[in-house]
Amino acid sequence: MNRIAPAAAPVPTLQLEDIVRTYVMGATEVQALRGVSVAIQRNEYVAIMGPSGSGKSTLMNLIGCLDRPTSGRYLLEGQPVGEMSDDELADIRNRRIGFVFQTFNLLPRTNVLHNVELPLIYAGIPRAERRERALAAIARVGLADRALHRPNELSGGQRQRVAIARALIGNPAILLADEPTGNLDSRTGADIMAMFNELHASGQTVILITHEDDIAAHAARTIRLRDGLIESDQSRAAAGARPA
Ligand code: ADP
Ligand code: MG
Repeated sequence: MNRIAPAAAPVPTLQLEDIVRTYVMGATEVQALRGVSVAIQRNEYVAIMGPSGSGKSTLMNLIGCLDRPTSGRYLLEGQPVGEMSDDELADIRNRRIGFVFQTFNLLPRTNVLHNVELPLIYAGIPRAERRERALAAIARVGLADRALHRPNELSGGQRQRVAIARALIGNPAILLADEPTGNLDSRTGADIMAMFNELHASGQTVILITHEDDIAAHAARTIRLRDGLIESDQSRAAAGARPA
């Protein structure tokens, strides 16, 4: 694969430096992350794996700016997240992170269009522009004819597509997905993975958390956690190359 050398070292999309996250529950402390350092560049496609309890969700919450580390430094597009106020953190989360959850997390009483435009409402984007961008995102995930339906009128795979459209609407730096196919049958899961692959091919940075090898195999890089530490961090050769 030919690669064009960048003029200057690019700022990583995400940089974690010696991240520790300790939960305190009464007299006990749980060290969910015990010193995690990793950098992820723009347009990488990364799977985060590891057994239950290894710290995956804790790491996702930190990357997604839903939580703060006990110690260590997190730079998101070069900006130190730890120094931000709660409002700034909420703002950067809304603007720079697109979340996709196992359980879709859609608002049940409102239609697809409204679900997808919600992040733009929080961002204060005017109604006409919101509508236009939401309809474009809905079309992009193949649901143009479902825009006025409610989530309970859609299949699981369609609901996850709505969640992906919502995640993409603000043009996020990172599309962050936690077990995105966990509630789907394998064929629908494959459809959703095809969609992540397509988004990655079009330039999106994608981070997915999964415990399934089949799902992780879509990513170009796999980071494995164990007991709150990175156990391995492996990149696959460029697409088309044979695995060693
Ligand atoms: P995973 O997603 O890989 O299953 P988690 O990040 O959820 O792992 O959990 C890592 C460790 O931290 C586990 O031992 C878990 O019990 C603990 N933990 C996670 N969240 C909390 C919390 N809010 N309070 C206390 N302990 C927690
Ligand atoms: Mg978890």
